[in-house]
Amino acid sequence: MRYEGRVFRPPSEAYSLIIQATVGCSHNKCRFCDMYKEKSFHVPPLEDVIGDLKQAREAYGPVNRIFLADGDALVRRFSDLEAILGAIQEIFPECGRVTSYGSPRSILIKTPEQLRRLRALGLKMIYMGLESGSDAILSHVNKGETAAEIIKAGRMVREAGMKLSVTAISGLGGKARWQEHAVKTAEALNAMNPEYIGLLTFRLEGQAPMIPEVERGDFQMLTPIEVARETLLMMEHLDSPGSVFRSNHISNYINLSGTLNQDKPRMLAELHEALGGRVAFKSEEMRNWDLKFH
Ligand code: SF4
Repeated sequence: MRYEGRVFRPPSEAYSLIIQATVGCSHNKCRFCDMYKEKSFHVPPLEDVIGDLKQAREAYGPVNRIFLADGDALVRRFSDLEAILGAIQEIFPECGRVTSYGSPRSILIKTPEQLRRLRALGLKMIYMGLESGSDAILSHVNKGETAAEIIKAGRMVREAGMKLSVTAISGLGGKARWQEHAVKTAEALNAMNPEYIGLLTFRLEGQAPMIPEVERGDFQMLTPIEVARETLLMMEHLDSPGSVFRSNHISNYINLSGTLNQDKPRMLAELHEALGGRVAFKSEEMRNWDLKFH
């Protein structure tokens, strides 16, 4: 199987077969992100992707889950996605779940019927980055999409019967916009009511274009205690019944996990404990441990 460059996948796809349906990120301009900066985005020929599936069939035993990489496999033409999912059904009849990252733009260019068809062919969940519900912050980090567009895309995914997993990033508004970030991000998540919410914490990696801005002091990052305060405000505004909320990525200073809204009082209490100094924050060394091996 062909793998070009570093391959990223959500933590919940640790045991999935990963197939590069696209290489790199079709946007690749978010100023906080370093993930695909080394790659120039391209769409491998359909026959190469199907060839990778056939090779994987030879190499592995039962495959129950497949993750279509890289940053935005959904940007492929609908007919290509139909062919890839059809081939998966044929080659891996035991596979119960296909997932991929999807940018809001690549979702919005599909029709509701096309999304339903992809769901019928086995695409069960889309991972989508909201990052922030604030348009000012989305514009500052060059996300390339507005909160309204992201919400619309998230709703389309859910209306097509797919599960939706949305990530946001604590601290992305810095000291200047932490309250706006907390409230508007909660509101955007509420509007989508995704099955899964993942809250990461801002950290700068490798060649992320925001690094010089931070070094000049033009963007002031939050301290661990400020991140906890922001998360508390976000949690207070979250109203997304049934969403599984996780903030247990390596980048997070403290871990939170529960189902909204029922576990919200417990998670709020845990945040108050942290703000009261009764919970240890993860050290910067531990938060960046994985980056040493890139
Ligand atoms: S955050 Fe996502 S959309 Fe933005 S550049 Fe990175 S991979 Fe691409």
